[in-house]
Amino acid sequence: MGIKESQYKKILKDYELKRERSNKELRLRQEEIYAKIPRIAEIDNILASTGIEISKAILQNPEKSEELIHSLEQKNLDLIIEKAELLYINGYNKNYLEPTYHCYSCKDTGYISNSPCHCFKQALIDIAYDQSNLKEILAIENFDNFNFDYFSDKLDSTMNISPKENIKQIYSHCIRFIEQFDDNFDNLIFYGNSGLGKTFLCNCIAKDLLDRGKTVIYLTAFQLFQLFEQVRFNKDDEENSSRNYLDTIFTVDLLIIDDLGTEFSTSLTGSELFNCLNSRLLDKKHTIISTNLSPNDWQKQYSERIVSRIFGHYKALKLIGEDIRIQKKYK
Ligand SMILES: [Zn+2]
Repeated sequence: MGIKESQYKKILKDYELKRERSNKELRLRQEEIYAKIPRIAEIDNILASTGIEISKAILQNPEKSEELIHSLEQKNLDLIIEKAELLYINGYNKNYLEPTYHCYSCKDTGYISNSPCHCFKQALIDIAYDQSNLKEILAIENFDNFNFDYFSDKLDSTMNISPKENIKQIYSHCIRFIEQFDDNFDNLIFYGNSGLGKTFLCNCIAKDLLDRGKTVIYLTAFQLFQLFEQVRFNKDDEENSSRNYLDTIFTVDLLIIDDLGTEFSTSLTGSELFNCLNSRLLDKKHTIISTNLSPNDWQKQYSERIVSRIFGHYKALKLIGEDIRIQKKYK
């Protein structure tokens, strides 16, 4: 994917830092609890010595070993329950003394039995596509912060629905898209005027799928076409090849193309876009497009071939209402 050795090392270093931080935080939580509830320190000590107890029991009394192990296990279980109850009574979550991870799949090691974890693959993608600021955006732009209040409940006569009811339907559609991501092949186009939250919706979906361990590439149409151009002009540069970048665009779990507009209408970019979208369709890889163009504009902008082949496989969702950015400005 055109990743340099130094970038690779940085990812591994980041994992190390995450684990160190998590260990440190755990130790602090332990100290806090042991000071407040000394019985838990006792319990942890006993639990930690279980292994030795078991070995001793087996050595001293081999013929009764099974019985002894069973009774030790029972004792441990009682202790674990007692610990959880003590935490609960004192107002703590039962997981308060468990380590925390950014990624529970690989426990922040980047690997699951020698194969790269999804979070590792995503870290490579984030570097390759310069998505390093995506996480900060996603911390703000996600479903938890979705605000229906920017959409009026007055009926829109041309659509025969109010903007609020319309956005609620679109919202449910997005949730379904995420819930059925593995089972149902589905693609979305958000269209409508600027400032209605198309990018916001793209980000909400990206956040949820990243949290579920899917790989996501988010590109504006402008960035995507730039990439096409780089590939066209760097055909022989094997080392840091843009072609490798493009490969991931074909294979990533979800590709989001934001802000597809009228400005990119050369036949060359058109056919490269067609190639990319078509290949993802054939491989059943989900794509989301946001655009200011209406279906009528697509017909004018892109060839018949693109419109009928590609957009027939997309669910088109039209956003209506008043520009949220302007509303925010005057509130
Ligand atoms: Zn992971």
